[in-house]
Amino acid sequence: MNLSNCSIPIIGFAAYSGTGKTTLLEALLPRLVDSGVRVAMIKHAHHNFDVDIPGKDSYRLRKAGASQMLISSRYRNALMTETPDDDEALRQLIQKVNQNQADLIVVEGFKHESFPKIELNRATINKPFLYPTDENIIAIACDSFPDTSLPILDINNIESVLAFVLKQMESHQAQTATCDSLSPTMLSVKRGREKILAALESPKQTHVVDLDVLTNHVLASPIIAPVNVPSSTNSAMDGYAIRSDDLETGTYVKVGDVFAGSRFEHPLQKGQCVRIMTGAPVPEHADTVIMREQASDVNGAVQFDTSKGKIRAGQNVRQAGEDLRKGSQVFPAGTRINAPVLGMIASLGFDRVNVYTNVTVALFSTGDEVQAPGTPPKQNCIYDTNRFSLKGLLQKLGCDVLDFGIIEDNEAALSDTLKQAIASADVIISSGGVSVGDADYIKTVLTALGDINFWRVNMRPGRPLAFGKLGNTPFFGLPGNPVAVMVTYLQFVEPAIRKLQGEEGWQPQRIVAITQERIRSRVGRTEYTRGSYNINANGQLEVRSTGSQGSGILRSMHEANCLIEVSPDVECAEVGDNVTIIPLASRI
Ligand code: AMP
Ligand code: MG
Repeated sequence: MNLSNCSIPIIGFAAYSGTGKTTLLEALLPRLVDSGVRVAMIKHAHHNFDVDIPGKDSYRLRKAGASQMLISSRYRNALMTETPDDDEALRQLIQKVNQNQADLIVVEGFKHESFPKIELNRATINKPFLYPTDENIIAIACDSFPDTSLPILDINNIESVLAFVLKQMESHQAQTATCDSLSPTMLSVKRGREKILAALESPKQTHVVDLDVLTNHVLASPIIAPVNVPSSTNSAMDGYAIRSDDLETGTYVKVGDVFAGSRFEHPLQKGQCVRIMTGAPVPEHADTVIMREQASDVNGAVQFDTSKGKIRAGQNVRQAGEDLRKGSQVFPAGTRINAPVLGMIASLGFDRVNVYTNVTVALFSTGDEVQAPGTPPKQNCIYDTNRFSLKGLLQKLGCDVLDFGIIEDNEAALSDTLKQAIASADVIISSGGVSVGDADYIKTVLTALGDINFWRVNMRPGRPLAFGKLGNTPFFGLPGNPVAVMVTYLQFVEPAIRKLQGEEGWQPQRIVAITQERIRSRVGRTEYTRGSYNINANGQLEVRSTGSQGSGILRSMHEANCLIEVSPDVECAEVGDNVTIIPLASRI
């Protein structure tokens, strides 16, 4: 059913006039663009249509005899071809579409041609269905319940139509794997990340580690409090403990001194007080502590100066278990251990806990122009940046890194390295060599060793990204440009590694700030400008870019404290607009 001269998927929409074909397409196209799909449309018009304007130069020249008129300007061009003798067949028209600049061809009309179509039908139009007579119908968008095994979509729910079209595109991709690696679909950042996360499993291997080396591990078992923290009700102040049913007594007899680590063994009677230090357990029946500064103690006769502060029953006392209650779950499995978590685990008395085993990452750079730092500079070469920025990022996440260095630009070297990496690491990351125009041997080797997709992600910086599995080992082929490497890592690799480490439901922090600069982007693309945010004199969060945004300018990343994310549905952000920022402080 596929038209053989088309390397990208093609879908038609077939309906009787009046069904609302164009209206539906007008709603569908922006949703496709949002999903990162570049759409080419082919539309049949019945009349002697003309897109040119009578009197314009192009019109006059065409009328003067140009059988093909190609008019071009900064923003678009159009080829007008005179076809006086015959309608062109769909297959000829498809050849005129630049298939390298589109991911999907949508066709309106051409109902007698054989290609996959979605039929549109509305009960109110009162027309028969086309699917019984047109075997090219692959789904029906309608508002009734025709008796068919074809997929039925809700014509009034654009999401249902969108989901079907995207699924069709994916299965086209799966069927044409080789062709696909040359012209893969443009993916949105969100869909790319979803695909990656869906392909990864949570870890199973666990082991027990000492507190000393626990930071950045992820708990494999929940932490249940074996004791109360604090273990006993104790004083929050240096002062005097009394009973709250005994606030009116004027002068109290001091019956003891209680220091942290000791206790007063007798129940406290009315008229009595004890001097007590911060953290010391309050005696039985005592439940209120008055701070030292309010007390006068004359040979054990103690009075309190209430002009310095009223005494409230229960004040300045910490209840046993008020921080962590015995038997309660303090941390679920999947918690990453940072300083407060570490401190709390220690406060419960644990010296060892069960964690997921560290993720080992094999890392290498590709490219004949890339040379190792520490070697004398060679002509036309650049020092390897990416291996080190990536190592820094991975170590920050607590990964063990296996550094495979710079791989020579040849098939055998790459293949050997990958085989070693598969045998020794949980994840493999490379940089360089995955963009269009890069040496094909990388793709050949990767394809021979596993199941790798070469994506173009609709983002900037970034775009080329290879992801898949070599055997069971996830592989990320990141772009070559140093900024693109870091931004792609933050969007795709970090969430993936956190999942492989067992961290549950991690999301980067996102906040809103007012942009002080116009931020250029494009509909369909997610733009990540390196930014610096601060709080202005009015207490508002504002952000500006860090200057030159070339994807080779790593300084832009160093000077940034956030990424400014302009989402695919926005053309550009103007000065004063709210923009989403993703703080980087704890991540790079
Ligand atoms: P590629 O994706 O291999 O075409 O690389 C894109 C750009 O990134 C080229 O200018 C490369 O020279 C540069 N590049 C590739 N790998 C590295 C690396 N490891 N360190 C610094 N720059 C790199
Ligand atoms: Mg290269």
